[in-house]
Amino acid sequence: MNDASSVPLLSKTRYAAGLQCAGRLYRMCFQPELATPPDAAQQARFDAGTRVGELARNLRPGGVLIDEPFFRHDDAVARTRALLANGATSAICEAGFTEAGVRIRADILSTSRDGRELIEVKSSTSVKDEHLDDAAIQLATIEAAGVSVDRVCIGHINNACVYQGDEYVPGKLLTVEDITAKARDVAAGVPARIATMREMLAANDAPEPDLGSHCHKPYDCEFYDYCRQGEPEWSIEELPGLNDERRRDLRVGEIRSIRDIPVTFRLSAAQQRVRDTVQSGRPYVSSALLHDLARITSPAHFIDFETVAPALPIFAGTRPYQAQPFQWSDHVLHTDGSLDHYEFLADGTADPRRAFAETLLDGLAGAATIAVYSSFARARLHELQVAFPDLAAPLQAVLDRSWVDLLKVVRDHYYHPEFRGSYSNQIRPPRSRGGLRIQRPRHPGRGGRLSRVHGDRQPSDGPGASRRNPLQSPRLLRARHRGHGPDP
Ligand code: SF4
Repeated sequence: MNDASSVPLLSKTRYAAGLQCAGRLYRMCFQPELATPPDAAQQARFDAGTRVGELARNLRPGGVLIDEPFFRHDDAVARTRALLANGATSAICEAGFTEAGVRIRADILSTSRDGRELIEVKSSTSVKDEHLDDAAIQLATIEAAGVSVDRVCIGHINNACVYQGDEYVPGKLLTVEDITAKARDVAAGVPARIATMREMLAANDAPEPDLGSHCHKPYDCEFYDYCRQGEPEWSIEELPGLNDERRRDLRVGEIRSIRDIPVTFRLSAAQQRVRDTVQSGRPYVSSALLHDLARITSPAHFIDFETVAPALPIFAGTRPYQAQPFQWSDHVLHTDGSLDHYEFLADGTADPRRAFAETLLDGLAGAATIAVYSSFARARLHELQVAFPDLAAPLQAVLDRSWVDLLKVVRDHYYHPEFRGSYSNQIRPPRSRGGLRIQRPRHPGRGGRLSRVHGDRQPSDGPGASRRNPLQSPRLLRARHRGHGPDP
């Protein structure tokens, strides 16, 4: 048991972790080395959040940034206190407070004739339930420090805003929503929740991993890989769409491996298929698979798109998070059985969409069948029709061709045990076992990995966020625009 003075201070992040799972909070405080580092997509989301936060600093005029780093939190608190006492500052960005075992940095604390306003900035496009908790712990901590707050808001991305191509305008790209009443309701329960969390931390007894839907909601837990280590090779966690009630039922029966699930145990059709293939060791192949595959006639074009969807738009005429395709890949199966590959990759200097569309139209000119994996590609073509009305008709002609969604074909007719409960078509090396494996998504059953939308990859460069073009990353600049010739 630790004494109260040695219990780590809670922060907004730790508090959110504690609400999700006691084990996550404990490990975040005492065993951070057990966390899986963020992958590229997660890091891109974090970077996007940073840039949105920087942009938001100009939401209220006259803002003073408390730029002391997190490890000089006491200095940040002292400076915040001095600015508040002085009363001459209309807005403080990254205001620091430490009270009742919690330390926070508030995104924006502004003062006007209408009173004091707290704004928590989010890179999402709407207010979510978990944002109320973020705002509530700040509200409780600031008021515990003797600073009254009249209005609590969430500042989030306004995805209806069309970027004009010049400097970002925070008041247009961000929407400020008043959540005062809800935040006050939630804040009333904050002291009790903090007391429970501090008690758990003081006990210094690591909670046992207890996998469940909370591992991915509202946030993907960074300790998931660690907590999964205790699961058997064919863990029930690989059953698609397993809900907490059925998971509990299996655990009560001491069943943690798909291999041990009795045939009498009630499962969905998809789960039954996974169980049967794992238990038999043989893939599932439906008798109708060949019939569906026969719809693919040559020349068949197997296409795949890559897109970027930055929180802060890059090109004039686009909106936040609008998917902008910058690469297509086309494997062509000819009537003689030979295979060619064609591709387009934007050079990163300008809006890639028109060149993407025009080259794709050329490439698909003779296609008898267009095969894709999910509805993602068709959705992008519909968006291109809206963006370029003069290309709407030829794009429609492409959309009217014979399309085969291979994701649907696979879902309906095939399952291999090594799919591990996922139909994602992305592969990555496993962390601990040899060979390549179909990638296990972080949200089993949600199919989030199927949409290849990249977020911002824009580096943080301090206050006053400016435009950055994620298409100009070194990786993309090194790549080639191969036009329409087959690979050498
Ligand atoms: S993976 Fe799940 S059980 Fe483990 S710490 Fe995270 S939320 Fe808790």
